[in-house]
Amino acid sequence: MSADSVAAIRNAILSRQRFVITSHARPDGDAIGSQVAMALALRQLGKDVQMVSADPAPPQFQTFPGVSEIQVSQSVEEKFDAAIVMECGDLSRTGIQGLDRYFVINIDHHPGNKNYGAINWFDAGAAACGEMVFDVIEALGVSLTPEIATHVYITILTDTGGFHYSHITPRTFEICRRCTEAGAEPEPIARAVYDSSTMGRLRLMGAVLHSLEFESGGRAVLAALKLDLLRETGATHEDADGLINIPLTVKDIHAVAFFKEIAPDSFRISLRSKGGIDVNRVANVFGGGGHKNAAGCTLNGPYPEVRQKVVAELNRALT
Ligand code: 5GP
Ligand code: MN
Repeated sequence: MSADSVAAIRNAILSRQRFVITSHARPDGDAIGSQVAMALALRQLGKDVQMVSADPAPPQFQTFPGVSEIQVSQSVEEKFDAAIVMECGDLSRTGIQGLDRYFVINIDHHPGNKNYGAINWFDAGAAACGEMVFDVIEALGVSLTPEIATHVYITILTDTGGFHYSHITPRTFEICRRCTEAGAEPEPIARAVYDSSTMGRLRLMGAVLHSLEFESGGRAVLAALKLDLLRETGATHEDADGLINIPLTVKDIHAVAFFKEIAPDSFRISLRSKGGIDVNRVANVFGGGGHKNAAGCTLNGPYPEVRQKVVAELNRALT
């Protein structure tokens, strides 16, 4: 199955010239790494490539090669022969209008992918979308430069939560081996991704951790970041990235819901879990999605109401 998909994608790429390459809004390491690795590979073949995202890359990714070339735009209008859309279960996840006018190549590993492309390759078993990109790059016969290798490595490092999550297979390490051999440097990459935080973030962590709430007999944790706390600490929403993982370091905590107020009475909710607890199902109830152990959704309403709805579903997931 996957060999057929890779061959179809390879042929579609080789027979076209102008590409727009994109991924989901509010991009993460897998979105950015997949996008840049694919773009660099296609450029080696002499293709014209434009990278577009609805939102800018978070600061910790901006120092990596090629990332500054990603254009931030919510629509595309130029003439392209194909759009390569990665990491998106459905085309609206890109946050970009106009992609449906092109020949869409859909490459994704999120359960529930809607097969919106002219070519659809979906592999829920991939630890990162970057693993799939690696296969495409290999099929295209382009060389694994240090820059491409770095981006593929970033996709795996970040989407596995630093080699924590499920879906890590021998192949994951084989791809990482190939990437390090080709020049990806694990230590500086990890330092840039995980150890380049700000004082605002440290203060924010203190405040959020101070106000954790416990549910399901202590097995679930709720964290909230309201707009007034952002104002008080001088932090940004980006400063809260990764904070959600801290409660999960406690042995007996199995799920975390993190409520980020993005506008008055509007919350982006990040969900994380360990082992068999499926927070993707919780996100699905509210129109969101993701993976079994990492998912997200958006809910509108006063905090107590939103909190109560999520807790009810979270409790169900934990039983
Ligand atoms: P995060 O909490 O880091 O924003 O997202 C965790 C995971 O859930 C990621 O795989 C992300 O793509 C997915 N996700 C987050 N929010 C949404 C959403 O609103 N819709 C869908 N389909 N997936 C989401
Ligand atoms: Mn991913």
